[in-house]
Amino acid sequence: MKLIFLGAPGAGKGTQADMLCEAVGIPHISTGDMLRKQMREGTELGRQAKAVIEAGGLVGDDIIIGMVKDRIAEPDCKNGFLLDGFPRTIAQADALSALTDIDMAVDIDVPTERLVARISGRRMCPGCGATFHVSTYAKETCDKCGATLYIRDDDKPETVKNRIDVYNANTQPLIAYYENKGILKRVDGDKKPDEVLAQIRTLTETL
Ligand code: AMP
Repeated sequence: MKLIFLGAPGAGKGTQADMLCEAVGIPHISTGDMLRKQMREGTELGRQAKAVIEAGGLVGDDIIIGMVKDRIAEPDCKNGFLLDGFPRTIAQADALSALTDIDMAVDIDVPTERLVARISGRRMCPGCGATFHVSTYAKETCDKCGATLYIRDDDKPETVKNRIDVYNANTQPLIAYYENKGILKRVDGDKKPDEVLAQIRTLTETL
């Protein structure tokens, strides 16, 4: 099962990816998480990516494509994987097509006006990468690993608008791209997390 999650920032890709991957036993590959790890570790790539990420822009295609190419060649990906936050440009999608065949691209659809509220309540765990929302999770520490939660720099209101503009300009066209390939499915992301997951599971059961 090789899957892609499409959807604007704040649509719930990461939350759904965590839940689905745990249920079906495939790795959750988040390019955003991989970049944040590089930033935490202070690597050269992390240092290069920091300014772009904090401004809400996109890291260069070549860097991202190289990262994903290496990751999906690892043994745990041999029975499938879920890509969250990749591809984000047509160039990335073309590169992915050249590497492997994807079974399904799921667009998690949330109205634009709901995205800002969802992002501003998001809290992230620096330890294990889990995400929480203040509307459903009042604690300041992660219930999976105990680390103190934080607000991503790029979740601050001044950056969020730019991220949504960047999504509309660069990533939204991928919906038509995968529709043309005949593998696009849509789910209504403006529902409770378990209801969104149920829609996704109904789709993946057809694979
Ligand atoms: P995310 O956690 O998916 O929202 O990603 C956080 C940030 O990392 C994005 O706003 C981009 O700056 C960068 N990023 C993540 N994935 C990609 C990608 N596929 N292409 C370019 N930049 C990316």
